[in-house]
Amino acid sequence: MSDLSQQRETLDLSSRRLVIGDYTVTSLKDGYFDLPGGFMVSPEGGPPLDPGASVHIDVNAFLVEGRGKKILIDTGAGPKLGPTANHLSSELLALSIKPEEIDAVFCTHIHPDHTNGLIDAQGAGLFTNATVHIHKNEKKFWVDEADKASADMAFQFEWTREAFSPYLERLETFSQGELVAGVSAVPLFGHTPGHSGFLIDGGSGNQLLIIGDCVHAVAVQAKNPQVYSSADMDHVEALASRIRMFDMAAQDNLFIAGMHIDHPGYGRIARDGSAYTYIGA
Ligand SMILES: [Zn+2]
Ligand SMILES: [Zn+2]
Repeated sequence: MSDLSQQRETLDLSSRRLVIGDYTVTSLKDGYFDLPGGFMVSPEGGPPLDPGASVHIDVNAFLVEGRGKKILIDTGAGPKLGPTANHLSSELLALSIKPEEIDAVFCTHIHPDHTNGLIDAQGAGLFTNATVHIHKNEKKFWVDEADKASADMAFQFEWTREAFSPYLERLETFSQGELVAGVSAVPLFGHTPGHSGFLIDGGSGNQLLIIGDCVHAVAVQAKNPQVYSSADMDHVEALASRIRMFDMAAQDNLFIAGMHIDHPGYGRIARDGSAYTYIGA
């Protein structure tokens, strides 16, 4: 457990920046989607959800700067998912950062709203000097075994092929543990086969856990972790990962950051009886 007396994470909501020791993390808003109420699912015995109410989710990516590197965690939805998304490039430009300055892209997983932003509308890779890192299970499922795609998922495999084709020479896979000094991959499988979080450790007990798509309605899922998203490919495994992540965050009073937590997406998790409470930043 980290020593809370030494923690010095500093959150500046106006700049959407969280200073984690040696690292500065900036939340970038790629956009949002309003999805049908059925997107969130309550299992037998779970809380009632209103199937008529639409589900609003923001789409965040995170820029991690420090120790001489600029690392992008996920790339947003790119140009294929409509006008409410694909604002990542302008978010970077507002910070005076050009895409070619990004040294590495770490992907929490392969889904269109996280990896379509690797390319522009013409299919050219935006991050011309970056290595791209994904969990080995993601590459196996979405890239190496794409010929096994079912008809209803074929478009996702095609979009994956398009998004990754400029990067095949610079594509690196990981399993878990430290990827660069102070940035470690944390397996949180279930949402997709290799879905992973990233623990940013800036030294002296300063940490942030980027949780990817562990949650799509964080307040509801903290109270009722068994509620899942219809985008969770294996919702039983996703539930186990969600509980492990909640426990880790609550135990160490970690800042978490979510791709689909209301922008800027930072918060904390506290235990609440047999469940949890989400505390937004
Ligand atoms: Zn996803
Ligand atoms: Zn997502």
